Amino acid sequence: MKRPHFNIPVFIPELACPFRCVYCNQYNISGRCAPPDPGQVINIIEDHLLTLPTEGRTVEVAFFGGSFTGLAMEQQNIYLDLVQNYIDSGLIQGIRLSTRPDYISASILHNLKKKRVRAIELGAQSLDEEVLAMAGRGHKVEDVVQATKIIREAGFETGLQMMTGLPGDTTEKSLTTAHKIISLGADTVRIYPTLVIEDTDLAYLYRQGKYHPQTLEEATGLCAELFVLFNEAGVNVLRMGLHPSETFYDGGSLLAGPFHPAFGELVMTKVWKHRIEKALSGKGNTVELQVHPSQLNAAIGHKAANKKWLAEKFQRVVFISHTDIEKYDFSINIY
Ligand code: SF4
Repeated sequence: MKRPHFNIPVFIPELACPFRCVYCNQYNISGRCAPPDPGQVINIIEDHLLTLPTEGRTVEVAFFGGSFTGLAMEQQNIYLDLVQNYIDSGLIQGIRLSTRPDYISASILHNLKKKRVRAIELGAQSLDEEVLAMAGRGHKVEDVVQATKIIREAGFETGLQMMTGLPGDTTEKSLTTAHKIISLGADTVRIYPTLVIEDTDLAYLYRQGKYHPQTLEEATGLCAELFVLFNEAGVNVLRMGLHPSETFYDGGSLLAGPFHPAFGELVMTKVWKHRIEKALSGKGNTVELQVHPSQLNAAIGHKAANKKWLAEKFQRVVFISHTDIEKYDFSINIY
């Protein structure tokens, strides 16, 4: 059985970022949000280790938030070296980090390999040239393609992060981005719907009536489609929707957009409803669904939405979890 995986998140803000992505309020945080010092990183690691099960687990320190490899190499190594003793003692199994595609080179990867980084996640956001330009990302599609290629060749687990609902984006462009991510050979993906945060260029565009965010319904519907695509292609979807602490870390406030604290649950409710709907055939008073334990809540749905929907059609609705069933498989009986 796969060992449960835990990330110990260490947030590294992007100080004085030279870019100006329209949706981001981090580019101007210099002087207001300091990166953690080594003592703070150790405290974060120690505090998390106390809360994790002691056996049968995989733990990685995850340097998220900014563009890790945009830091000076000495600064990267200060952080990476803090984790080495924990890896040697077996308490932690590796390191993962997120960065920009244009902050990847052979020498950077060589150093990360030496410091036992296992996974690299790139903020791709879109693989449509026009959307990237309108988002002010400051890199091209080709940067993502090249960075992904050399990260994979160097043997790292490769993750790509994409956004939906960016200015100039469409459902078709998001689906094309997903197909390209699959063809690039990504192992993992994170999907973030665009939110309008105060103190961003997007907030200005929104107030001018020049940007219209996705509704929650649109965003969850599109993410459900993307999830199915990735899942069928064997790309592991690590997250859908921002965690509140990832969104508003700089005190920035949400102005508009499809934010929901249980966004991923809403998406999985849709995924399961669609799957159940397709498999419903035959007549009877009882519907019984068997699913993998990890999918029981998702199949029942957010606030039992799917169970309630089935209860409108059947007198009795039974969900059973079964370890023999593959994670996203299910069986349905009507009698
Ligand atoms: S999202 Fe863009 S602006 Fe924000 S920190 Fe990253 S690169 Fe800089």
